[in-house]
Amino acid sequence: MSTQAESSTGIRLVALAGNPNCGKTSVFNALTGSRQRVGNYPGITVERIEGTMDLPDGSRVRVLDLPGSYSFLAASDDERIARDALLGLAGMERPDAVIAVVDASNLERNLYFATQLFESGLPICIALNMCDVAERHGVPVDAEELERVLEVPVVPVHGRDGANIDRLKEALLRARSPGRRWTMPREGEELLGNVREAVEAAGIVPNGAAEGEALRLLTHAEDDDPFLERGGEALQGAVREARKSLEEQGIDREALEAECRYAVCNDFARQVRKMHTEPGPSN
Ligand code: GDP
Ligand code: MG
Repeated sequence: MSTQAESSTGIRLVALAGNPNCGKTSVFNALTGSRQRVGNYPGITVERIEGTMDLPDGSRVRVLDLPGSYSFLAASDDERIARDALLGLAGMERPDAVIAVVDASNLERNLYFATQLFESGLPICIALNMCDVAERHGVPVDAEELERVLEVPVVPVHGRDGANIDRLKEALLRARSPGRRWTMPREGEELLGNVREAVEAAGIVPNGAAEGEALRLLTHAEDDDPFLERGGEALQGAVREARKSLEEQGIDREALEAECRYAVCNDFARQVRKMHTEPGPSN
């Protein structure tokens, strides 16, 4: 068996991302077996856990187990590291693809982060974990339906016992970007478009990640955010204008992203919960 360091689809480094406790490390262990090593991220003491895995096309690629994260719009230190790692910022190597680990028993909240990952610009596939727990709670998730809804490959796995890990590796070779687009009300979309153009012109994040960065700057960033500074006067002006316009329309900028995305994710979750057959009239 050959062991080229790059997959047939150009993957050399893949990152595992997801909420805390969704099973990332379990999936990571199932993917990499004992081929792991622990280091540090540049300049910080958080452990950086990397391993290698063999893909069905004969490649051996590197896998990174990222710190857990509830938001790609980065608030905590762990979240910032996960975000910087996915964007290849702060001296880190940008991955070529991402496996989003989604806890099926906590679907809405996990989809919130997974759909944010669509805006990283990286090809993505989803490991739907904790299916046994969702089933036990009486709310099993239809993985095929979730794949149809999200427009990226979805594989149900069991992180702890490694079930379906080979299927997950196959799905990684079909990873795609950007996945299902969620939308805000039209006013928000227009303003986001303006900021996105300014982000693209400023070149502060990799190609493909401008949308997510524009969203972050518009809805979440503080005035002294380093990326605003880096983007220069044109970007600062665009963000200022867009925020002012939201304010004039009485739209809370932080709530804008969270509320709209949650509404979309709640709807996705409703679509993919396997319906139990209602008892018929004769029962
Ligand atoms: P991380 O914080 O995302 O890295 O999550 P871990 O991999 O540490 O998993 C959190 C807990 O869930 C651990 O106790 C795992 O053994 C358990 N776990 C992981 N995957 C599964 C699964 O598919 N089903 C069940 N029931 N437990 C799991
Ligand atoms: Mg972990």
